[in-house]
Amino acid sequence: MLIDLHAHSTGSDGTDSPAGLVAAARAAGLDAIALTDHDTTAGWAEAATAVREAAPGGQSGQGGPVLVPGVEISCEREGRSIHLLGYLVDPAEPELAAELARARESRATRLERMVERLAADGIPVTYAAVLAQVPAGATPGRPHIADALVAAGAVRDRDEAFARWLRDDSPYYVHHYAPDPTRAVGLVLQAGGVPVLAHPFTRARGVPVLGEDVVAELAAAGLAGLEADHPDHDEPTRARAHELARRLELLATGSSDYHGRGKTVRLAAHTTPAEVLAEIELRGTGSAVVRP
Ligand code: AMP
Ligand code: ZN
Ligand code: FE
Ligand code: FE
Repeated sequence: MLIDLHAHSTGSDGTDSPAGLVAAARAAGLDAIALTDHDTTAGWAEAATAVREAAPGGQSGQGGPVLVPGVEISCEREGRSIHLLGYLVDPAEPELAAELARARESRATRLERMVERLAADGIPVTYAAVLAQVPAGATPGRPHIADALVAAGAVRDRDEAFARWLRDDSPYYVHHYAPDPTRAVGLVLQAGGVPVLAHPFTRARGVPVLGEDVVAELAAAGLAGLEADHPDHDEPTRARAHELARRLELLATGSSDYHGRGKTVRLAAHTTPAEVLAEIELRGTGSAVVRP
């Protein structure tokens, strides 16, 4: 079974449409794909339609891919960015929906401020040029500034734009509104979803963003799992994440964090065991997994 529980579409900063993502997952032989755009569930309907209309596929020949509807919630603790995956949430749950809307609005203002800072330093970008890169209805993010810089010929790709100007520790970086992760875990649970901490040991400036104390705090708040296998984690880090998941009695997932052409990582670069997805499906009551 090939199960990839973290992927982006044009609902945020991925480059495949939601239907295109489902098609790519099928072409890659996936049995299950989770659509987890940043701070939005807007792509779910299109992805669900693409799954339902498709002929069966998938490596196991059981039909696929199934769609696991999800969202990647931007959170912040002490100025540091933390991402929480929420699977099978009810997208209409008022508090969660309001929090996601607030984050999306704040992201737009924040991009405008970042563009002002970049332009003031002579970097060739305007807010209009950035908006031209944001698909209709998508959650805006730094990758869209990167795309405008690529279009202007200032950099080759998103990676170069991040390395030069867009990193968290860059002088051009501006924060956006984001809830505390403990609150976000509560919101996901309240919306009937399954909260899984995304890439818990991602490093910024060479040091892990998150301490194990924060993971333990989130576990006490009802966190269900850790994304142990992720491209941001090297082999020793993945082993440590699995160990931590065992110790805190959390599920351990694996995923690619696919962004289409926006990143070099391929679908199913890391995968999740079928038993873990079955457990997520059992616990998630806000939405259902979509089958072909
Ligand atoms: P934002 O959501 O605006 O804070 O931007 C963060 C997003 O940028 C994340 O989804 C990352 O996947 C993406 N990102 C971070 N670093 C890079 C990079 N070097 N190249 C491409 N995308 C990146
Ligand atoms: Zn992203
Ligand atoms: Fe993330
Ligand atoms: Fe992601």
